[in-house]
Amino acid sequence: MTNPVDAAAVELERDAVVVGAGFAGLYALHVLRDRVGLSVQAIDQAGGVGGVWYWNRYPGARCDIESCNYSYSFSAELQQEWQWSERFAGQPEILRYLEHVADRFDLRRDIRLGTRITSATWDSGRARWVVTTDAGDRVIARYLISGAGTLSAAKEPAFDGLDSFEGQVYSTARWPHDGVDFTGKRVAVIGTGASGIQVIPHIAAQAAHLTVFQRTANYATPIHNGPMDPEFTRLIKAGYPGLRGRSRDNFGGLPYDLQAPSALAVTQDERRRVYQERWDQGGFRLSLDSYADVFFDATANATAAEFIRDKIRERVTDPATAELLCPTDHAYGTKRPPLETGYYEAYNRETVDLVDLRACPIERITATGIRTTGVQGADHPLDAIVLALGFDALTGPLLRMGIQGRDGLSLRSHWSQGPRTYLGLMVHGFPNLFTITGPQSPSVFYNHPLAVEDHVDWLAGCLSHQRARGIDSVEPSAEAEHRWGEHTDEVASGLLLPHTDSWYTGSNVPGKPRALLAYFGGAPAYRRICADVAERGYQGLLFDGVPAADGPGATV
Ligand code: NAP
Repeated sequence: MTNPVDAAAVELERDAVVVGAGFAGLYALHVLRDRVGLSVQAIDQAGGVGGVWYWNRYPGARCDIESCNYSYSFSAELQQEWQWSERFAGQPEILRYLEHVADRFDLRRDIRLGTRITSATWDSGRARWVVTTDAGDRVIARYLISGAGTLSAAKEPAFDGLDSFEGQVYSTARWPHDGVDFTGKRVAVIGTGASGIQVIPHIAAQAAHLTVFQRTANYATPIHNGPMDPEFTRLIKAGYPGLRGRSRDNFGGLPYDLQAPSALAVTQDERRRVYQERWDQGGFRLSLDSYADVFFDATANATAAEFIRDKIRERVTDPATAELLCPTDHAYGTKRPPLETGYYEAYNRETVDLVDLRACPIERITATGIRTTGVQGADHPLDAIVLALGFDALTGPLLRMGIQGRDGLSLRSHWSQGPRTYLGLMVHGFPNLFTITGPQSPSVFYNHPLAVEDHVDWLAGCLSHQRARGIDSVEPSAEAEHRWGEHTDEVASGLLLPHTDSWYTGSNVPGKPRALLAYFGGAPAYRRICADVAERGYQGLLFDGVPAADGPGATV
């Protein structure tokens, strides 16, 4: 079979192409280049480093994990020298941090920015990836390492008439660098996920009028952000090794240790005391550090859900609006719980309205606004529309790259029924492709910088092992991939989460196959599995087509 890329002019040859210059891409470039000794070309579509923190510049964009935890742990010096100004850093500060990392570790010289990968094709004859870009470049590389992210492919809006709107349209996932002044404007926000919930209070405070179009109400809880106290900073820095160790021993990669097994094993008073305490602590304490059975027992979950609904009713003055904001159609935590500052109070402003899209769906967007239909259908005149519609999560960023593996197999067709991977890191039929925080790994359920470091460190070990033995290509066996898929489904089978429509299951994107997109066995179990695979000589992998070790591959 003739490979269509053979005839093309080769511009660059590298050991590895790294996709992306966010948390994953920067760390992969650093480790593979400076520790493993590979020549590496990183490529990112953005005009700067930072990944999602480069793009998501909307007012209110902020990390939902404490910055002392949502940061790299690999360099003790970096941890000591970087000063976070807030408990939960805002987007500009996280972007500055990643820019600092790029400079401090001299990464920029190997990053090509403003360049989108248009295809990546495995050339079996040469055992190389041929990567093409929209700049017309080709990079030939033994390894293709995706740090393309989990929530980086923004969902395409599909509203009739959007192009006819004569006002401005903004997307939270691609916010203008110069900011937007909504003063005096009539603004709509469509979407009430984490992004919508962060941006709404800011627009409400500035616009002449804000209409929020809500399809599904969410369980938002307070983030309780504030400035970093110098004494707290000192304590964190003195205790970083222990803090990171505790995080890696925790299900979600956070140094939380207060979770009790069952909400149903305690009295109602005790339960409410615990919920109130976690509510006051802020961050993900309420969801991840209260009771374990909130995630798998509907009755336990209902206790937390009702606690949050009561809070919403207390905070929103108009009872009808409060009820619309109270989620009743899904269990708490089965959509990713958003954190907020002043979200519910925004609806107490006279200039803010809430439209329930279940009762009156959007019929179309007109030249002058949004037309809804149904019992209370209406024309909503607008100057600007803000789309906060979410992402084609986990698989989207990989599928948009046009990846073709052995024998012309496209990743899109291999994943037509949902992702199939080994450890969420490798794919059968796609030699030397590695997906950092890929689908079927803990990824979005594991504090991202730590998840990235674990994957890249494991990968560095795997590549060093191969290179020491002169191995050209590695891929998982079909059986190992199949067993990992079964294991991923099995660990999630007792959870409430698979039953809710959300980006965790791909059901937020029309036409996307419904499948679990992450591994829900928790970081400690996953870390153990990956370590076992390596210790057993990379069980489940084929090295140059030959099983690397006896045995079918990892499960638990
Ligand atoms: P999201 O959670 O998927 O929310 C998208 C919102 O848009 C939902 O309310 C959804 O309603 C609505 N929507 C989508 N398509 C629609 C349509 N055609 N018509 C009407 N409404 C529509 O997306 P997101 O808010 O961008 O957040 C995604 C994830 O990114 C988060 O869960 C989080 O992991 C991450 N994130 C993190 C932070 C942070 O750390 N601070 C901030 C932002 C985002 P339905 O629910 O009915 O589908």
